[in-house]
Amino acid sequence: MAQYDFDLFVIGAGSGGVRAARIASGHGAKVAIAEEYRFGGTCVIRGCVPKKIFVYASRFKDDFDDSAGFGWSFDGEAKFDWSTLMANKDKEIDRLEGIYKGILERNNVEAFAERAELVDAHTVRLTTSGKTVTADKILIATGGHVNFDDGLEGIEHAISSNEAFHLEKLPERVVVVGGGYIAVEFAGIFAGLGAKTTIVYRRDKVLRGFDEDMRDGLMEAMQARGIDIVTDAVFKKIEKTGDSLKGTLDTGQVLDADQIMFAIGRDPNTKGLGLENAGVELGRKGEVKVSADSQSSVANIYAVGDVTDRVALTPVAIREGHAFADSVFGKAPRVVDHDTIPTAVFSTPEIGTCGLTEAEARERYGDIDIYKSQFRPMRGTMSGSSERMIMKLIVNPADQKVVGCHILGPDAGEIIQVVGITMKMGATKADFDATVALHPSAAEELVTMSTKFTG
Ligand code: FAD
Ligand code: NDP
Repeated sequence: MAQYDFDLFVIGAGSGGVRAARIASGHGAKVAIAEEYRFGGTCVIRGCVPKKIFVYASRFKDDFDDSAGFGWSFDGEAKFDWSTLMANKDKEIDRLEGIYKGILERNNVEAFAERAELVDAHTVRLTTSGKTVTADKILIATGGHVNFDDGLEGIEHAISSNEAFHLEKLPERVVVVGGGYIAVEFAGIFAGLGAKTTIVYRRDKVLRGFDEDMRDGLMEAMQARGIDIVTDAVFKKIEKTGDSLKGTLDTGQVLDADQIMFAIGRDPNTKGLGLENAGVELGRKGEVKVSADSQSSVANIYAVGDVTDRVALTPVAIREGHAFADSVFGKAPRVVDHDTIPTAVFSTPEIGTCGLTEAEARERYGDIDIYKSQFRPMRGTMSGSSERMIMKLIVNPADQKVVGCHILGPDAGEIIQVVGITMKMGATKADFDATVALHPSAAEELVTMSTKFTG
């Protein structure tokens, strides 16, 4: 008789957990998975997917406006209906959740639709049914949760991105708090859909950690689109009168709003998980501390994805889950390379970035070569839009390798995915230059940049 009920028990059916469960099962392991909310996890249910749907919705206004210069006109006014968007979005999310459930079923993964907690290093308790099961290996793939400014007076009146996906109506006035990915993406969404939008950020410039040219360019573009950006300020209190909210900042400024959305980061989901029962070591933010191969301080317990606080992106969680399953059950050990990961911020305009920022490259290499191009995309010449696109390559002069690429403007995310391949292959500036331009496109700038700034 087997010593344990399962070879692997996965806690959390999100991006990392589902991939690990499927691959481990494919390698012949007997696998179970538990999910306390909805199968598919943050990305599918209340992250990347519904967010990108909202981003698409928010950009049609630009298309309608731009089309006039190309000869289009509409008899009536273009109107947006929030409830149609929500209903269609919900339908799509339901469809995707069904696909995730189907993947588990087809791969013989036993799925428990309830919360799971550790009793000890090999025992899991399912909290709704009260059932207890044992497993040889346990994978923690519980993701992260939204942070709130818990001590703030009136914080109960604020929402997070979770609730933003389920609002009954589009707020007329919205304040977004924070300056990270979620804050700038949602500010673009709300503003594009017609809400009067304000960002409140505690420092001077959004997207700390991104290249300065991207930060400056985005701030300027967001302001030009009518987003009010209040910097160097934090909330002191939120008051509610009827349906209206009043936010008071530490600067004394008062903001009236219909919704105030906090997007001030996410922390790993480890609270109440029973990890201490098994002796799993946690970090400062509650993240599961893991080695490069995702093993925790307890030999049979592993962790992947946001709960490890490495790089909080879906494709990274998926890679980590896959590598874990291949290494532990497929006897093909490998670790995930967390270097040079392309990423996009789906603000409007969007940012695509890969590799080092100018500041990071200077710190690492001293003198560097910078190639920069700023231009008005061709579409703007007919539409009348004055929006600029910025492209930037950062080159290490010692070996001429492109060590950073940063793009602000339409399709930046699509472009950076492909640039990421070249950077992973170690492409030099000469390789970029040797590639014939694709004309007319915005991306051709990347292979025609000749103005070098050295120093
Ligand atoms: P998750 O996908 O969060 O899955 C964890 C699962 O575990 C959840 O379903 C949770 O309910 C479950 N769970 C937790 N505790 C328990 C328990 N005790 N028992 C049972 N189940 C439990 N990334 C991108 O790459 N691109 C994007 O465009 C992007 N947009 C985003 C937009 C938003 C608004 C947010 C919030 C995130 C976005 N992300 C994006 C990040 C991305 O969603 C995460 O990096 C990714 O989902 C992490 O996957 P994971 O498997 O680690 O965790
Ligand atoms: P981020 O960590 O990206 O940003 C958090 C923001 O909140 C920062 O601007 C931070 O300021 C600010 N902040 C933190 N604490 C406070 C506070 N107490 N008061 C006021 N402001 C505060 O988190 P997000 O929530 O935006 O997103 C979480 C993660 O999810 C991202 O880092 C990313 O990995 C992932 N994600 C990816 C997306 C994509 O790939 N397109 C989209 C959305 C999310 P400061 O800069 O000063 O620290």
